[in-house]
Amino acid sequence: MTPKSIQLVINHLSELPGIGPRQAARIVFHLLKLPKHTVERLTHDISALKEKIRVCPVCLAGFEEEGDSKTCAICANVKRIKTTMCVVERESDIDPIEKTGIYKGTYHVVGENIDVLEGAIAPSINKLLDRITYIKKQLPSEKQKSMEIVIAMNATVEGDAIALYLTKLIIPLGVAVHRLGRGLASGAELEYADQQTLINALENRK
Ligand SMILES: [Zn+2]
Repeated sequence: MTPKSIQLVINHLSELPGIGPRQAARIVFHLLKLPKHTVERLTHDISALKEKIRVCPVCLAGFEEEGDSKTCAICANVKRIKTTMCVVERESDIDPIEKTGIYKGTYHVVGENIDVLEGAIAPSINKLLDRITYIKKQLPSEKQKSMEIVIAMNATVEGDAIALYLTKLIIPLGVAVHRLGRGLASGAELEYADQQTLINALENRK
């Protein structure tokens, strides 16, 4: 029988995304083989996350506060195009898009488990709608139509449902709404897409 303290950590790890009980057990047995100070550094760095990482009030991605920064580096960067906004499900979707090097706009993280069927609009989505309205208002009327929202959901059933839901909410705001092109294979998650596929999907957005 698995010792209680081992089982406890297996249970914790199994609750993490993408990790099943068997993988959790492998991690725990690996940790047991590591020197004590390595494990201590790992647990220390994990707990420091909650101290150091803040949620960007503009795009809702996590960022590390440096100096007097109040937003993430992308939102704070004046070179990023504020009138192009890429809407992603998870903040881990931002990195692969950044790595393509071709996207110059900003992001908005709506989060997972979006209820597209009924009930109130999720706060993250309300924030997105407010943000679009606010930026649009600051543009001269002839430029308002050039504002673009790129919906970059995973090519899964849930991702498609969220994309459709967001499109319906954003279109009445009078800005262009595009989705990533179908370079992404059906069922593909952005986080795991290879770079060329993402570049194609970004270039073929429609
Ligand atoms: Zn931000």
